[in-house]
Amino acid sequence: MTKVSRKEFLGLGAALAGATGIASAGLDTIVSAQPATGAGPGVAADLIVTNARVLTSDPARPRAEAFAVKNGRFIAVGSTAEIRNLANAQTRQIDAGGATITPGFIDCHCHVSGVGELFSVNANVPRVRELQANLKARVDKTPPGQWVNAIMFDDTKLDVTLTRSHLDEVSRDHPIVVGHRGGHTSWYNTKAFELAGITRSTPDPDHGRFFRDESGELSGRVAELARNVFNKVGTREVFTPEQQRERGRQGKAHISKLLTAAGLTSVHDAGAGRDSILAYQDAKESGELRHRALYLVRGAETFNGFKAAGLYYGYGDDMLRCTGVKYGADGSASERTMRMSTPYVGTNDYGILTMTQQEIDEAVEDAWRHNFRIAIHANGDTTIDMVLKAYERVQKQWPRKDPRNRIEHCSLVNPELLARIKALGVIPTPFWTYAHYHGEKWKFYGQDKMNWMFAHKSFIDNGIRVAGASDYGPGPFEPLMAIQSMVTRKDYSGNVWGPQQRITVDQALMVGTINGAYASHEENVKGSITAGKLADFTMLEKDPHDVNPDEIKNIKVLRTVVGGRAVHEA
Ligand SMILES: [Zn+2]
Repeated sequence: MTKVSRKEFLGLGAALAGATGIASAGLDTIVSAQPATGAGPGVAADLIVTNARVLTSDPARPRAEAFAVKNGRFIAVGSTAEIRNLANAQTRQIDAGGATITPGFIDCHCHVSGVGELFSVNANVPRVRELQANLKARVDKTPPGQWVNAIMFDDTKLDVTLTRSHLDEVSRDHPIVVGHRGGHTSWYNTKAFELAGITRSTPDPDHGRFFRDESGELSGRVAELARNVFNKVGTREVFTPEQQRERGRQGKAHISKLLTAAGLTSVHDAGAGRDSILAYQDAKESGELRHRALYLVRGAETFNGFKAAGLYYGYGDDMLRCTGVKYGADGSASERTMRMSTPYVGTNDYGILTMTQQEIDEAVEDAWRHNFRIAIHANGDTTIDMVLKAYERVQKQWPRKDPRNRIEHCSLVNPELLARIKALGVIPTPFWTYAHYHGEKWKFYGQDKMNWMFAHKSFIDNGIRVAGASDYGPGPFEPLMAIQSMVTRKDYSGNVWGPQQRITVDQALMVGTINGAYASHEENVKGSITAGKLADFTMLEKDPHDVNPDEIKNIKVLRTVVGGRAVHEA
């Protein structure tokens, strides 16, 4: 592909030439504001969209009918008559026919491997027989002793409780791992335990657990860092560096198509190492990166590389940008391993911490010293308190203006934690599809806790800029399901979880657009339909205000536009 056609595809040729001065900006202002001026006389737009119901996410003009785009940016927002004046014979014109248009949706916490989705065995099935059949098909093509890897498993959506023997029925000669979509627990067969030398008498390691059945036998389920022991055993499919790189690019191209088809225009990758960053660059170069990808660096090796090269938070451009460094300090909400001050319903299990206070303090100080904004995964109230202590410590010792450190998920809060989050200007990224999609899991927490979990309303009421976050694969990434979930807090069986946290459609739209831009210091560049900003928008068949709230997720995404160029058309 030539350079010209890449830019054509992305519609960014001139926009990139006039891109914002990122490299020289400090932490305080990653992106300088573009003046939000309307078009002057005689300026012809590249594209005008008229006759739409435009929900702008811009408090200065919340609604409009039409807008004009030039060089990948909005140049004017107004009435259909006003905007038509900006068109000439070359201008592309879209009559929206009354369709609803929002700013492009922004997901601030997503695990977009792409490679896994394309090449792994699919475990996201409702019946164990189906899971076994999918595994068996792969086993038949795999030499004995080599790992067979399934992803996106959801234990509470399977017809039975998955055990080691279900996997032994598939193979006793291949180590098998079935990864939960939540990312914190996995199921293994007997061959895998044998290779790893784990028996019923093996004690649980720090920061992990080998689950046992009533008789004390290994159940097959393994949590958190106890899974590390499996990494060094068995054989794995080997790829040349070229093959590996090609798979990476294909994976990113694949997932980028899915994300933009759902209406997303910017997606934060919540943990990218070297291979993933390379894959993003390759997909961008080949013109297959449709969405704006931001990534949190994960892993010491890659992070050390950034530090050694003198690169820091904000490095990149409008299509691909480093947005911080990521750590994980406790377990998972969906897999019931997050660390809380009170136990799971009917148990004395408080969950699992994966970092000590000292480790958190050191990670935060290191990031702070290297001009990195830090994002730490902390679900439970105990863990959130620990992370806030670390943020309070560096802010007190080495004060910095507007650092916008993040707490990933920030699931279970209370008024005291909310006050500290507000005081520090921390960005929480709670799960925005979970109340709806994972309803069958919330009985393990109970209504009292759920009234303080994924606490979008509490964050908003306390003046905290809460950002939208799917945590895909653990949660679905569709932003319209997210709006429904935040507005109704109702699961697919009709149960309402934590009604205290319901928000309005307007609030949900702000969470999914401008707040997402704020979460990367880019609120002056994108996140609303405002003259001067990047022309990212999503066209919907219906207005989420108009439909039954229980049907928002069914609204069709007609078109997704990034930088003025359609990247999805239904
Ligand atoms: Zn995550």
